[in-house]
Amino acid sequence: MAGVKDYLNKQVGDNREQIEHHVREILKLIGEDVEREGLLDTPARVTRMYEEIFAGYAIEPRDVLGVTFEENHEELVIVKDITYYSQCEHHMAPFFGKVHIGYIPSGHIAGLSKLARLVEAVSRRLQVQERITSQIADIMDEVLQPRGVMVVVEGEHLCMCARGVKKPGSKTVTSAVRGTFRKDAASRAEFLSLLKD
Ligand SMILES: [Zn+2]
Repeated sequence: MAGVKDYLNKQVGDNREQIEHHVREILKLIGEDVEREGLLDTPARVTRMYEEIFAGYAIEPRDVLGVTFEENHEELVIVKDITYYSQCEHHMAPFFGKVHIGYIPSGHIAGLSKLARLVEAVSRRLQVQERITSQIADIMDEVLQPRGVMVVVEGEHLCMCARGVKKPGSKTVTSAVRGTFRKDAASRAEFLSLLKD
């Protein structure tokens, strides 16, 4: 699987000095002493982190799935426990967890590493969990044209934990269904039961 190091947010790289400057300004504005030792390299470290955690902007998620195999398999395919790490667009705070994808192919299947890369492409941006979920389902639907696709995303949101809205460790679960999964309760149930193992 391609790691995030294979693609960084080039725009962040090109604007490194300005971003570092603004991070330093925010530190001052919250009352910090930007000259103290622990903070000297913080603006540069935050900027390098942005290159990675916002790397998704550097890729078109549809291109990630690009190559598919012709395959006669028309039974449920499940790829579960794909980890993701994203940033909530409301607070710029991390949320992270696992993505589970189930789909019933109709001629095209995607390599497992491609699905993991798709998850990175949509999650390494400012996001909301609901949109990560629906974008993965929509892109799978569009590129692979499966008979159906179902996506379940679990996430722990630090903005909610830190602000006391939710208890640490509590998870938000979102799902999106396309195609045959919409009307076929048995397919949805099969997918969900296989997630429990
Ligand atoms: Zn938030």
